[in-house]
Amino acid sequence: MPLIANHSSEDSFTLPASRIYQEFKSTDQKYKSRLRSRISNLKDQKNPDLRRNVLAGNISADHIANMAAEEMASAELKEMRKTLTKDAIREHQLSKVGGTETDMFQCGKCRGKNCTYTQVQTRSADEPMTTFVLCNGCGNRWKFC
Ligand SMILES: [Zn+2]
Repeated sequence: MPLIANHSSEDSFTLPASRIYQEFKSTDQKYKSRLRSRISNLKDQKNPDLRRNVLAGNISADHIANMAAEEMASAELKEMRKTLTKDAIREHQLSKVGGTETDMFQCGKCRGKNCTYTQVQTRSADEPMTTFVLCNGCGNRWKFC
């Protein structure tokens, strides 16, 4: 199988390349950077689905030529980004909305003690609570378990 795989993976670059050329009608900087991002995604070891789909014809050369970086990203990366965004949003909301004012904590930045804290069960019920603290003096945020 390695022979076929090598041959085919070159096809997966040539087709989109000719589509991109048709769009820009030149091999200038735009063409090169567009092509480079296709190739790096098609070569990405963590993203075998993209290459497979292009070779199988599930993704047409036209489509891959115009795909956004987001679309090309592997499912794994997409999942990771989603989680990161969710965490960031949750932390943001927690420290803004609700929370209890306290002088139990001292801010590491401004040494102030005027803080707001929120405790959340981030994982399963038998794991310790995570405490999110916001310094009302300087806006510094931190968390601990
Ligand atoms: Zn502070």
